[in-house]
Amino acid sequence: MNGLRLPSQQQIYDTAPRWLQRLLVNAEAVRREWFRRHGDYQRLVADHDPAWYYRPRAEQEAWQLAQLNRLLAAARRRVPHYRRVLPDRPLASLAELPSLPMLNKEQIRRNPFDLVADDLDRRTLWPRKTSGSTGTPLTFYLDREATRHHQAPADAMLAALGCRFGEPRARFSGAYVAPYTRTKPPFWIWIDLYRQLQCSAYHLAPEFYPHYMRALRESGVVYGTGYPTAWHLLATYLLESGDQPPRLRAIITDSEGITLEQQAVVEQAFGCPMVQTYGTGEIGQMAWQCEHRRYHVLSRAAIAEVVGEDGLPVAPGETGQIVVTTFAGAGTPFIRYQTGDLATLAADDCPCGRHSPSWLAIEGRIDDRIKTADGRWIGRLSHVTKPGVGIKESQIAQVAPDRIVIRVVPAPDFVPESMQAVVEAARRYLGPTMHVEWEIVERLPRTRAGKLRHVVREIEL
Ligand SMILES: [Zn+2]
Repeated sequence: MNGLRLPSQQQIYDTAPRWLQRLLVNAEAVRREWFRRHGDYQRLVADHDPAWYYRPRAEQEAWQLAQLNRLLAAARRRVPHYRRVLPDRPLASLAELPSLPMLNKEQIRRNPFDLVADDLDRRTLWPRKTSGSTGTPLTFYLDREATRHHQAPADAMLAALGCRFGEPRARFSGAYVAPYTRTKPPFWIWIDLYRQLQCSAYHLAPEFYPHYMRALRESGVVYGTGYPTAWHLLATYLLESGDQPPRLRAIITDSEGITLEQQAVVEQAFGCPMVQTYGTGEIGQMAWQCEHRRYHVLSRAAIAEVVGEDGLPVAPGETGQIVVTTFAGAGTPFIRYQTGDLATLAADDCPCGRHSPSWLAIEGRIDDRIKTADGRWIGRLSHVTKPGVGIKESQIAQVAPDRIVIRVVPAPDFVPESMQAVVEAARRYLGPTMHVEWEIVERLPRTRAGKLRHVVREIEL
């Protein structure tokens, strides 16, 4: 509930009786739906038929090139920033895309309206804020057309999993449900318009797991969404306690990622498939995991490049920054937008038969890299905890220029001796200039938005 984060609204919400709180969150939901699902929305969802991703790659790219050139021409005509930076001619092929300038967060921060079509009434825009987990929040604007274009592919993919918007669902996220200082349930609220049990990811502490689980069962939800780390915490609780899970058809997560091992734990505990997705508020959801656990770009919604430091595409099998161009319209366009997230490109066609580009993994944020004492940037570190036995959750923190601490939340079957292999793996990656230690913690800190960061740099560089 971004709208409820304003101090005054938040104070009203905090002191309101339960019925009034429910009225307030529903009013916010009505406001959001005005942006999301309107006009010939069902036609738009149908246009994102998941069968499209099995079409030959060349056919997908030809369609994308036509979309892209339409977008470039319209953005150049309507949007001040793009009027200055885009060439006055169509691209001959997608391979020419890297010749266009990239857009970064700093450019938006300086002047967000530079990215908005000047024929739009600003009162009809949705001001959006990213959570700013890396320290600097970002405000940007989306128009109604972009917002519904972000929603439609997600609804289409959801339907392919046998779940529909409008069926009761549970969502774990950083949405403001209860004061951060609150120490007793409920940490959830029912949003009638979405038929959604909105659960706070921020208040998930072991003593409340049974309460959350009862709320999930009693609400009759049939699928789950939101933060995967929240679902994983509840999954480990289910397996340890033998408590009864709600009967879910699927869990579709967003906003952050967990390892494939943790994903398997969620599926075992809840007895349903789990799908991780990739997206951000700026660009919408634009990659979904397939049954082979690869992230497929929703090529009908966006073009996603994976580029190196030089802005050029990395080779298959390599890791680079995700740079996105969405087909969400020219009112509030994002063209070659630097997401700050890292992905590893697949080197071959996915065995699932889809021909849209796929990523083997999303490696976290560029800002979460660690800088070693000898000056090297290490981006892919979260996997060093793999040899650890019985690790429930972990976080790798750089606490000094030459010191790393691996924080571990142990499961009952935790084997402390296995941490030796973890420490050795970390040392191999980090080199001899870094000291690596590990420690047991009861709980890992979440950001204000309730997210868990796997790799954190706790020093200024
Ligand atoms: Zn696949």
